[in-house]
Amino acid sequence: MKIKINISSDILTKPIMAEAILETGVLLNISQAHFDRSHGEVVADVEKDKFELMCKALMDRGAKVTKLDTPIRWDENECVECSACISVCPTKVFALADDFSLEVDETKCIQCATCVDMCPHNALSLENNK
Ligand code: SF4
Ligand code: SF4
Repeated sequence: MKIKINISSDILTKPIMAEAILETGVLLNISQAHFDRSHGEVVADVEKDKFELMCKALMDRGAKVTKLDTPIRWDENECVECSACISVCPTKVFALADDFSLEVDETKCIQCATCVDMCPHNALSLENNK
């Protein structure tokens, strides 16, 4: 399952993820990471039955952990079929049908949020991750 880990500025320089992995023995597969001076945000996969263990280890160290269990939402009424999302999605959620309408396969979504920023018409949204 996918989780988002938010790391505030006061613990940004601490190796909390490495410590949590070492303490629990639970591996994290990181698919997205953003760090700047004010905060860090990491999206990672963790085995479902190990979520509670990892979540506790991270939260004990001051991180905020959110489950990302809802894939991309596409608002067909807002979509102007510009195709911008097709080129940026790393898992090919979007495609053009023969009649050039947009096809969306939500099951392929890894919730990276890249398309949300790219959509010029706010037709795409992610619960808990934008
Ligand atoms: S980027 Fe937005 S408006 Fe353009 S095709 Fe994708 S969902 Fe539709
Ligand atoms: S959130 Fe990422 S994986 Fe999901 S549809 Fe958008 S670009 Fe593709």
